[in-house]
This record gives sequence, C-alpha cells and structure tokens, in this order.
Amino acid sequence: MTSPVWHPFFQHGLNEAIPHVVRAEGALLHLADGSTLIDAISSWWVTTHGHCHPRIAAAIAQQAGTLDQLIFAGYTHEPAEEVARGLIALAPRADNQPKLAHVFYSDSGSTAVEVALKMALGYWHNLALDGLAQPRSRILVLEHSYHGDTIGAMSVGERGVYNAAWTPLLFDVDTIPFPAPGREQACLDALEAACARHPAGFVVEPLILGAGGMFVYSADVLREMAAICRRHGVLLIADEVMTGWGRTGAIFACEQAGVVPDIMAVAKGITGGAIPLAATLATAPIFEAHRSSDRARLFYHSSSYTANPIACAAAVANLAIWREEDVLGRIKQLAQTMADRLATLACSPAFANPRQAGTIVAIDLVTPDAGYLSDLAPRLRLFFQDRGLLLRPLGNTIYLMPPYCLDAQQLDRIFAALHAAGEKFGLHA
Ligand code: PLP
Repeated sequence: MTSPVWHPFFQHGLNEAIPHVVRAEGALLHLADGSTLIDAISSWWVTTHGHCHPRIAAAIAQQAGTLDQLIFAGYTHEPAEEVARGLIALAPRADNQPKLAHVFYSDSGSTAVEVALKMALGYWHNLALDGLAQPRSRILVLEHSYHGDTIGAMSVGERGVYNAAWTPLLFDVDTIPFPAPGREQACLDALEAACARHPAGFVVEPLILGAGGMFVYSADVLREMAAICRRHGVLLIADEVMTGWGRTGAIFACEQAGVVPDIMAVAKGITGGAIPLAATLATAPIFEAHRSSDRARLFYHSSSYTANPIACAAAVANLAIWREEDVLGRIKQLAQTMADRLATLACSPAFANPRQAGTIVAIDLVTPDAGYLSDLAPRLRLFFQDRGLLLRPLGNTIYLMPPYCLDAQQLDRIFAALHAAGEKFGLHA
C-alpha cells in the first residue's frame, strides 16, 4: 500500500523502503519488524538526553491534563514563565555587556531565526521612528551557513540546489567568507568592511556550522567577530539551534568564547527533544525599542502555538535535568571517548579532515563521488541502516551527534561501521 505521507529531505522517486519506528528509549529506536537502530544523530540533533526520558515524558503527561494550550498574546502560564527565567539564568553573560534578558517563544529553529531577524530589523526601525538612528535592514551571514527552511531562514543561509527553486523569494544578504584555517584574517577583514556599511545584524552559528558541512572555527575568531560587530553597533545574532544544550561542551557555544550575542536563537534540545519549542532571547535595548504606548511599535509576530504549555512543561523538565544532573560531565566523558575513536578512524587513508566540537564529530570520506547530488550520501545511509545505525551523511561528510546517554558499546558499534564504510566506499578501496 502506498503511503500518502510526503517526507522532508527525502527523494520518494528512489523508491527506498521507509523504516517504521514504533518505540524509542535512550539511544535506541525500535522498528516494527523487531530490529533496532542506534540513533547516532539524536533524531536530527534534538534528543539530547535520549528518547522518552522519563522526567520529560511525565511532565508532558501531567501538563496535558492540566493546561494544554493558551493564546499567548497577553495571557501567560507558569511553565512559560519558568522556562524564560531558566533560559535567562543559563544564557551566556559577560561583564560590561548587556545581558540576554527577554525571551520570545516560537516552535522551531527556523522560526526562532525568523523572529531574530524580525527583532533586529524592528529594533532599527523603531529607533529610526524616534530619530535615534538611520533605519538598517541589511543582514550579514557567514558562508556555508544553514539556519532553516522558511523563506527568511533560507535567505540568510547558503544558496544551492536545495533552495534553487525559491531563489526569487529570498532577500539579498552580504556573505562573509568562512574563517577556514589560514583564512581567519580574511574573514575578519571582510566582516569589518561589511560592518562599516551599517548593516542591521550579523547571523552566525557559533563555533561550528552544521548542515552546511560541519565546519569548525575557533572561539578566538568568534570573539573577534563579536568585537567587530560591537565596534560598529551591528547586532550579533547567534543561532544556537544546533550548538545549544551542551553540544559543543558548554551549555551554549557562545559561552566558550565569552561572547554575549544581542539576540540568540535556541530550539531542538530545549525540550530535551521531545516536543517542538523554540525561543529567541534578546537584550533589554532590543525589547525596549519595541516597548511603547504606541501600538505601531509592538512586535508583530506570533503563531497559534506560541509558548504551548505542554512544550514549555517539557522544557521545565529539561531545565531541571540540567540543574540537578551532571549533564556537562556526561558530555565531557562522551566527547573524550568520541575523540579517541575519531583519532583511530583518522589514521585510515579512506578518511580526511577529522573535526570535533564537543559531542559533534565529523570526517570526510576520501572519494571522487562527493557532490551534493551524488547518491553517495543515501547509499551510505542505507549501508549504516543495514548495520543497525541511524546516520545521515552530508555528501561525503559523515558526522555523529548522539544523545548524551550513548554508551561505549554503542559507540564501538558506530565506529566499527564507520571503518567498514571507509573500506567499502573510500578511495583506496
Ligand atoms: N539553525 C540551525 C543552526 C540548525 O541546525 C537548524 C536545523 O537543523 C535550524 C536553524 C532550523 O531548525 P528547525 O529544523 O527546528 O526549523
């Protein structure tokens, strides 16, 4: 029987069988045919503590029977208040820099980024209404970035085959070259020159660019980027959708560079990955620019489910886990084990460019068959699936982003499959 379901980022024309997952726990997915898959990418980088965490599941069940949904335009509920306080307490901070002090809710990483862009332009627009600044609307972006699939989020991301059909809808941005090793100064010089033209803001994925290729750059460069933006009054917008919730070794990646962005987008692991929720944090000046008795200046953005109480209750449970358990200790240990295994893999001539940021590791398969449209990535995905793993390579880049509960035996199975993939698909094979 053919299914009416249209899957995202999936070519139905290839007639691949689609695994039916019936249950999950920890790092394991249970399939309808009785087999299991190790979820080595946290089901698209979200299930930080593992699937069906009992504390999060219980919080969702409890909230679903208490207050399920509430219009959020001028009404509130305790889970939303508690998550906002928790986010502010955990957000990166530094002396002499405005703190992230306000939380705006949405439903996904893409919408958190859209909100960030709207906040940045709203800020300049409202300052201009008061004659306090010239309006600014240009956005700077980093080469190879990915910020989501809505029109605004695509506009500030890398352009390519995956958004070619919608190019006419995307707005123009200025692209800053990625600070690859040896290219850091060129990146910073380009940013300085672009900032001198008075853009509204600069959007960055801190320390590691995810879907664009798992490219890492240093905390020093991020710190320099922030300093340049500050010198020119350009808003720094950090997209912590992937890097947040401990992925790079600190709760938020900006913290590792001592950087406090003006606006910060968070999603994915905010609920421990159990249910959609996102938030965009902003400093007081950005909030204050919208606060007025003038209805023309309010922040015109919402969705029906903004700050859904059930999602917020899951986030409250997630914050409690962060507060009460040694999550960072677990991350450190897992990151070290992953580093050891990656070093061994990197000795193979079938692989190149090993890289890591916390519990994200990536390595490139040495193969001529590396283009985005090549069928290498789907073939690799099926190769791993046959070995009981959920992995989703980006072209010839194989990456891991497992839940923090992954155990050593599961990691061994993953790396054994990676070695086997090198033997089968690597250039020396
Ligand atoms: N920003 C970054 C850095 C991401 O990695 C992603 C998704 O992977 C997004 C934004 C979009 O998030 P979502 O898929 O929840 O819309």
